[in-house]
Amino acid sequence: MNIQIGDRLLMKKPHPCGGKIWKVTRIGLDFRLVCETCGREILIPRVKAEKGVKRILPDESVTNS
Ligand SMILES: [Zn+2]
Repeated sequence: MNIQIGDRLLMKKPHPCGGKIWKVTRIGLDFRLVCETCGREILIPRVKAEKGVKRILPDESVTNS
């Protein structure tokens, strides 16, 4: 799975706030994700993040694609 900074991830399990879409703000051994619904930041291991992703959504901020 090719996840990059700025990608929006649709996760299998929703956040307690109800949001399912997370934006990737940092990539390394851990991924830093921001919940699009409540704005909360989390840090989770890469393997766990990749397993939890249902699919990658196109970045809405990209206009020239
Ligand atoms: Zn949330």
